[in-house]
Amino acid sequence: VTQPIVDERLEDVQLEFRRWLADELPPEWRDISRGTEEERAVTIRRAWGERLARGGWVAPGWPVEDGGRGLSHEGERLLLEEVVRAGAPEPLNSNGIRIFGPILRRYGTEEQKRKFLPAMLDHSELWCQGFSEPNAGSDLANLQTRAVVDGDRLIVNGQKVWTSFAAYADYCYALVRTDRDAPRHKGVSMVIVDMAQPGVTVRPLRTIAGGWEFAEVFFDDAIIPMTAVVGELNQGWSMAIEALALERGLSFAERSFQMRREVANVVRVCDDAGAVADPQVLARLVDSYLDSRMLTSLVMRVLRVIDDPEALGGLAALTKLHWSEAHQRILGLVVDVLENAAGRPEAAEWLGAFLYSRGETIYAGTSEIQRNTIARAIGLPSSASVAAGAVRPRVRAGGAVITDEQQMLREGLDAVLDGEVTPARLTAALDGDGFCPDTWRALGDGGWLGIACGDDAPGDARTLVELGESAGAHLVPAPLGVTVTLVAPLLSATGGAAPIDASAVAAGTTLAAFVLPDAGTPRDPRWTVVRAEALPGGGLRLRGGAPDVQFAAAADRFLVPVEVDGRVAVAVVAADGDGVQVGAPNALDYAAPTAPLTLDGVEVGPGDQLGGPLADHTEILRSGLESYMHWLDGEAVGGATEMLRRTVEYVGQRRQFGVPVGSFQAVKHLIADAYADVELARGHAYDAALAADRDEPDGQVARAASRLVCGRIYPIVLERCIQAHGGIAFTWEHQMHFWYRAALAARHRVFPARVLRGEVERALLAPPIETSAN
Ligand SMILES: Cc1cc2nc3c(=O)[nH]c(=O)nc-3n(C[C@H](O)[C@H](O)[C@H](O)COP(=O)(O)OP(=O)(O)OC[C@H]3O[C@@H](n4cnc5c(N)ncnc54)[C@H](O)[C@@H]3O)c2cc1C
Repeated sequence: VTQPIVDERLEDVQLEFRRWLADELPPEWRDISRGTEEERAVTIRRAWGERLARGGWVAPGWPVEDGGRGLSHEGERLLLEEVVRAGAPEPLNSNGIRIFGPILRRYGTEEQKRKFLPAMLDHSELWCQGFSEPNAGSDLANLQTRAVVDGDRLIVNGQKVWTSFAAYADYCYALVRTDRDAPRHKGVSMVIVDMAQPGVTVRPLRTIAGGWEFAEVFFDDAIIPMTAVVGELNQGWSMAIEALALERGLSFAERSFQMRREVANVVRVCDDAGAVADPQVLARLVDSYLDSRMLTSLVMRVLRVIDDPEALGGLAALTKLHWSEAHQRILGLVVDVLENAAGRPEAAEWLGAFLYSRGETIYAGTSEIQRNTIARAIGLPSSASVAAGAVRPRVRAGGAVITDEQQMLREGLDAVLDGEVTPARLTAALDGDGFCPDTWRALGDGGWLGIACGDDAPGDARTLVELGESAGAHLVPAPLGVTVTLVAPLLSATGGAAPIDASAVAAGTTLAAFVLPDAGTPRDPRWTVVRAEALPGGGLRLRGGAPDVQFAAAADRFLVPVEVDGRVAVAVVAADGDGVQVGAPNALDYAAPTAPLTLDGVEVGPGDQLGGPLADHTEILRSGLESYMHWLDGEAVGGATEMLRRTVEYVGQRRQFGVPVGSFQAVKHLIADAYADVELARGHAYDAALAADRDEPDGQVARAASRLVCGRIYPIVLERCIQAHGGIAFTWEHQMHFWYRAALAARHRVFPARVLRGEVERALLAPPIETSAN
């Protein structure tokens, strides 16, 4: 076992690789795709593999003694980033190196390792994978290729199919049946087949994309020496499962990272073709951009927990599923665009890549099989015979970056809310005016309402996502998010003002409602919903109507930001003051009920403004809004996760036709899709928060992207969960509709989708950042 390189040195290794790539990767080898003419692609990928091996970069995660660099998964990820940045091709032997190599290292004999690994790495011997057969695709355990022991050798008869690069390969790692009487999974062995022997016939198959990349392979009395069995005879199945897991791990990591670059290339193609002005094209580009961001973040999570199946859950299957489907979408867009710009030279290559992508939802486990895998991973019944209620939901956020302190805060808030927001109390509150004073006071007693004021202020965005998740999961019947992110920081910075006592707000005895902006962007919010006229002596006269102020009906005070003389002052208005009117509540969201607030010439004295007359709060309000956006993301993720968890539990118990409904594949796939939605939203939320906390340059875009996706996905998850519940979720008594309403309302909170989309479009169409590769 090699010591992994310590993290401080990883950046040096990354830099070294970047420089090496700049020197060694010829420009004409960059960005070759699956649509590139096959002979050319094979030649380049082989030569590239040889060059990587000479440089010592072909298997950086392998131990040094086996020809690698002993890098951790994090190190491998950093190098993959460089590969993508440079547009480098995948080495031709990647199937051998990434999938079979680790298996051979773990289970092979010393002799096998010595004989095969060096030549695998330096590309002097190429490998293919012989798993699938005509009657064993998704149901791989049905494989029939027979291998009969004959002294110190095996005699093999049968057929493999869809074997990629079989015509180029020197060796095949294959699954064969060595015990026909054993149960299906028990009598299988993994063997190394020399492709050059007389008993092996390769018949190339032409693919949908026109190339001859894969083949049928026939074995007629082919000879395999016993020394070419990997591991024990009849013990091949578990190695095959391990190999398939590896295939879904690092191989898809590279392809997923690659999508960021592909999207940038597609933007260029669309731009050159004059198609970006088409709103439909632009919308599809934005969606692909969001997909690609998400894939990066998903892969990071997968790599963090790749060795921990419990934490990994359905994430690896989700990555494969999402990558393959997203890749088809982006290539479908190019083909659509180029169809209208016929004669462009690269059109044939893009078309080839698009056609090839049809196979991506098939190989390495079809999309349907990935959905089955996700369903199993999150706890749905694996078969109809499972006893009702025997399943346990396993919906958890594997691979998340979270500190102990953030975890503790989350658990602290969960504990308070678990005790406070009981089903009966929640229903009572939401059936009434939506506000629960008892919960509010309990939160005040626990110090949660002044949390932004204390020394242990969470401040950081990642914490806000966690706390938001807790609030969303419980559907807190009170304005916790606005208070923590906007009200408390404002009061903390200013100490309050005459009509509002900051400590009473923090204690939960005074409820301050907040008037959110009605226009602008997250970078430049506009506080013009209420107009202010400056009065002599520093007072203000307020006039205007805010159509939806959260918890307006229950509020004691309103905090009203107004733009005056290029600043943003915050007026404190008593709910029962002259000229203050709260209208009938809007019907949508019971959990954060809003009502119109009208201020008709309300006069606010200099002492009734936070921080004094016309004190400017532009910055604190802008950053408060950013915090609130992270909080809202958390609420969406928390609410969706909780509903998904309840749904998994329900379909494991609810029986129809004598079996739990969760054992029906239609229901499993519905729920697997809901899981996919939740994890994609979670990924965006975490990404945006980490980008903010690390002050990364694309923090603004990440936040807009996250808000857009979380807002869009939350109701969709609820719709899937309602469907999986059947009639019961349609009733008022079942609480799911409260969350559904919250999800629908959250889409419109603060910045509308149109504005957020505009922010993402700006980033997408901005000129690419120059890198060493371009
Ligand atoms: C480009 C490409 C490269 C490949 N390379 C290799 C290779 O190098 N080596 C190799 O061994 N194999 C390779 N394959 C084969 C690949 O692994 C299989 O095609 C895949 O496992 C699906 O098997 P199948 O084609 O027999 O489809 P089937 O399993 O017959 O599936 C047909 C349809 O039924 C669905 N289905 C099947 N079972 C279920 C189920 N339980 N629940 C729900 N739906 C189900 C499938 O999703 C699919 O829609 C490659 C395939 C492609 C397309």
